[in-house]
Amino acid sequence: MTTTRFAPSPTGYIHVGNLRTALMNYLIARKAGGTFILRIDDTDPERSKEEYVDAIKQDMEWLGLHWDRIERQSDRLDRYAEAADKLRDMGRFYEAFETPTELDLKRKKQLNMGKPPVYDRAALNLSDAEKEALRAERGNGVWRFKLDHERIEWNDGILGGISIDASSVSDPVLIRGDGQVLYTIASVVDDTEMGVTDVVRGSDHVTNTATQIQIIEALGGTCPRFAHHSLLTGPQGEALSKRLGTLALRDLREQGVQPMALLSLMARLGSSDPVELRSDMAELIDGFDIGRFGAAPTKFDVQDLFPLTAKHLQSLPLADVADAVAEAGVPADLAEPFWAMARENITTLADLKGWWELCRDGAEPLIADEDRDFIAEAIALLPEGPFDGETWGKWTSAVKEATGRKGKGLFMPLRKALTGMERGPEMAALLPLLQVIRAKA
Ligand code: GLU
Repeated sequence: MTTTRFAPSPTGYIHVGNLRTALMNYLIARKAGGTFILRIDDTDPERSKEEYVDAIKQDMEWLGLHWDRIERQSDRLDRYAEAADKLRDMGRFYEAFETPTELDLKRKKQLNMGKPPVYDRAALNLSDAEKEALRAERGNGVWRFKLDHERIEWNDGILGGISIDASSVSDPVLIRGDGQVLYTIASVVDDTEMGVTDVVRGSDHVTNTATQIQIIEALGGTCPRFAHHSLLTGPQGEALSKRLGTLALRDLREQGVQPMALLSLMARLGSSDPVELRSDMAELIDGFDIGRFGAAPTKFDVQDLFPLTAKHLQSLPLADVADAVAEAGVPADLAEPFWAMARENITTLADLKGWWELCRDGAEPLIADEDRDFIAEAIALLPEGPFDGETWGKWTSAVKEATGRKGKGLFMPLRKALTGMERGPEMAALLPLLQVIRAKA
């Protein structure tokens, strides 16, 4: 059965880059009727925070990316220790004692000689006595996985055929000197034991994948299908990594972005299919195909989310936004006509408040000197209440007859006098909501 996972580290809020990963894994699982696991990669006790675990869950729920199971790596440390023992017994695991400074020096030397900065495996030649001495002097070493120096190949779901020479990659450290298990092995153990069939993640993980394939094979597991999506850039192609902190999902929510707008964009951005606003998750699932995504960096512009949000809001019935309409201060009996008027004129739900204030308090009228008499005459002609959708038509016909004005010369001064603006909602829909005028009639 198809099983995927989204595996964030709870060291910060999740952002649009993480969402791309989460969404692709989610859609693959749902499309296949499989299982989607939320896996919290919290093997780093110093950087992992419970508040971020909660925030990740909230963000996922807000988007409607419901998980079938949640797993935490901190609950599974004994499994990772077992796997480490297995690798040790196999002779694929060795202890190394170089300090970060020593490693840095080695890298610099290699680069100076025009060689790739790959760990030289010096620790493999240490005798037991030498290791004992180093341990006494420096404490426990790190544990590295001994790669087989052959080509590592896989057919990537996005990048196509990949072939990496293992000798161009350093033997990965899987356990730190302080005993902390690192993601590279923890993830492999989880993916294998949880029956993960498909792993989609960012292309910054391509080298990890190469080493993880060898670890999976060493542990006797089955490799999942891997796909690596391209990294997001800003609208001009500039690196986004530094700005991702300001593109946290909760910030976008604060700015009024609607989940369907965000999901619709992220499910298509970087693919050969056009971005289309989808009305629900079922449509997103239906229209998703990982094979349509390309390897080129993907441009992301936060501004694209607002027209999609506006379009999504326009499509909603009052029932879906009733809370926001009430929160804007609109009385229940006016909610229906208010929403009908406002929904064409908002970008986010935060704009409702301004439209309600206009309805409730009126606007500072914009009246040109030459229109003063005209406006006074028009106001005198306002029909008796109650106002409805017909009132504007009746009123402007009467004003036209009395003043001889027509077209723009008739409508624009009235709009400006009533709303203080040159454009905005349809006046027929707005007029019955203008409390000040209603009170006058
Ligand atoms: N915790 C890892 C990350 O956030 C997970 C990577 C993976 O999907 O394997 O980068």
